[in-house]
This record gives sequence, structure tokens and C-alpha cells, in this order.
Amino acid sequence: MHNKMTIDDKTFEPFIEHNMIEKRIRLIGIQLNLEYEDKVPVFIGVLNGALMFMADLLKEVKIGCEVAFVKVASYHGGTKSTGNIIEELALNIDIKGRDVIIVEDIIDTGSTLKFLIDKIKEKEPASIKVATLLLKPDALQHQFKEIEFVGFEIANDFVVGYGMDYKGLGRNTCDIYRLSGQKP
Ligand code: 5GP
Repeated sequence: MHNKMTIDDKTFEPFIEHNMIEKRIRLIGIQLNLEYEDKVPVFIGVLNGALMFMADLLKEVKIGCEVAFVKVASYHGGTKSTGNIIEELALNIDIKGRDVIIVEDIIDTGSTLKFLIDKIKEKEPASIKVATLLLKPDALQHQFKEIEFVGFEIANDFVVGYGMDYKGLGRNTCDIYRLSGQKP
């Protein structure tokens, strides 16, 4: 795995290697293929962070499906969620009566996900489930029955890479890094 990475004023250390990510995604793919065997779900990727996870996950999905994106922002480039969610790009397909799978890079406080689920529910889908690559259980401030597909549960650390950024940078790595100086 690669060495430490510096972005602006922060140093990040290697955390989750790409081959571990691939293995987890393969398993989530198997779960999805079984659970949605006789359905044609709509995968809704949450930009920008979920770009890599969405692409790699879809390669493991062997059933018919549609793909769409929404864009929301809450971190505004820093390392703390503001809790103030802004929808920057709205969903542009009809999901009434459809089985929706929201694809997230990471769930931290859960505010973004709550915002999204509330918005998507208004469009009357048949079902909503969530696939997230990372979940920070200790940071969660909401309960969700929809979170069913989780790559890794992690501590309350700030991570970058594999789609996730710090100040807009660092999304373009295969591995995931975490902010140095946090507890192991
Ligand atoms: P939440 O609303 O759950 O607090 O935060 C969700 C969003 O905040 C994620 O989709 C992601 O964009 C961003 N986020 C949360 N934790 C992290 C993190 O550790 N690193 C990065 N780069 N973004 C994060």
C-alpha cells in the first residue's frame, strides 16, 4: 500500500487497501443480485463522494437495473459535517413504484441520508434501501431501517480517497486514507 499522503495542511495515512474494498464490494454485489433477482431496481448514486463505489458496485450487479444520481453537499470541503444539507442536483427520473437503492460513500451523522430518504419518499418508490461503503456507527444521530448493505464500519475518523475528498482533493486514489493523529 502507498505511503502517507499530504493534502493542504493535513497528513493522511493508509487505511483500507483497494483489494479489501474490492472484496467487500463483490460480496455486496452477491447480496444485491439475490435480493433483487426478480426486480429492476434504480441505483441512485450520491455525488460526488460515491462516484468510485457506485462504478465498482454496478460492475458486480448482474440483474437489470437503472442508474441515476443526485448531488448533495454538507461538508463544504472541511472535516466536519455542517448538518446543513444542500441539494445541488435533483433526481431527474420517475421512481414512483420503483425499488430504490441509495448508494453512499460514507454515512457519518446520517443527516445527509435522512435528507435524501425524506426527499425520495415524497416520490413514492416501492422500496428504499441503502448501500454505503463506510459507516461510522459512533457518529450516527439518526436510526435507519434502510441501511442494509455496508462495506466497512469504521471509527469516528475523517477519511479521504476512493471518491472522498478533503478540500476538494484526494478523491482520485484507489485506497482509502485516514487523517493521521487519530486513535487507532
Ligand atoms: P453525514 O450527513 O452523514 O454527517 O455526512 C455524509 C456526507 O459527509 C458523506 O456523503 C460525505 O460526503 C461527507 N463525509 C462524512 N464523513 C466523511 C469523511 O470521513 N471523509 C470525507 N471525505 N467525507 C465525509
